[in-house]
Amino acid sequence: MKTTSFFASLFFLFLFLPGGPWKKSPAAGYDVFYQKPDRTMAKTLRPVFAAAKDSVAAFFGQNFPRPFAIYIHPDRASMDAQWQHDWQMPDFKSECWMVASGVGARLDLLSPRQWATQACEHDWARQEASRRLITHELVHVYHGQRNPSPDFSDVQGLDWLVEGLAAYASGQCDEARLAPVRAAVRDGKAPATLDKFWSGPLRYGLSGSVVAWIDHRYGRQTLIDLLPLTRKQAALDRLGVSEAQLLKDWQEYVVARK
Ligand SMILES: [Zn+2]
Repeated sequence: MKTTSFFASLFFLFLFLPGGPWKKSPAAGYDVFYQKPDRTMAKTLRPVFAAAKDSVAAFFGQNFPRPFAIYIHPDRASMDAQWQHDWQMPDFKSECWMVASGVGARLDLLSPRQWATQACEHDWARQEASRRLITHELVHVYHGQRNPSPDFSDVQGLDWLVEGLAAYASGQCDEARLAPVRAAVRDGKAPATLDKFWSGPLRYGLSGSVVAWIDHRYGRQTLIDLLPLTRKQAALDRLGVSEAQLLKDWQEYVVARK
């Protein structure tokens, strides 16, 4: 009896939660989940998701291996609850600049409807930047699907590759992000190890440009061959280069690219 009333109250709680339960909108190769306040936003996002998925598939020359889910969270509390669960960090509170994440099975996105009040550093009206952000997360989804650790929890020493690939393949590593990296290299202030690339204000340009260099020097297929790897040394072995030599070559590339 007790169990029945417990589940009955859960059922009513589910029905009357603000925003209501998740609604599903199927698309080609993925399902979009949203709640009632995002009905219009979900429609607006449909072509953005479709174009981002196509551009990721075009970059890798192959479609996503598996279907995935996209969750448009109605507010930051909803997204934090998901991340607390996924990352097993019950006290986790996201920073204001965190508006999305991507792993093999899903993309979580704070509804752009809430960016003005519940986020910083992101303006949905900046369409190209917003499109690139969603593409960035879908690169993570693709990468996760090609990696034995789809949520990257067993990927070590490869932040520069995971984030650099997403920054580069999504077009985020543009001249605005490259110029300060070039200046840092010229001033002798570039990080001395790959482990430091995904940190600080230049992290997108640093990580993105080292992946751009790998793509340029070793080719797209070699870059794709790095997707299943989970350790830095394995990536260097696949490239047949030492970390010091890779960074030396990258510096020359970055400085000469302008
Ligand atoms: Zn990322």
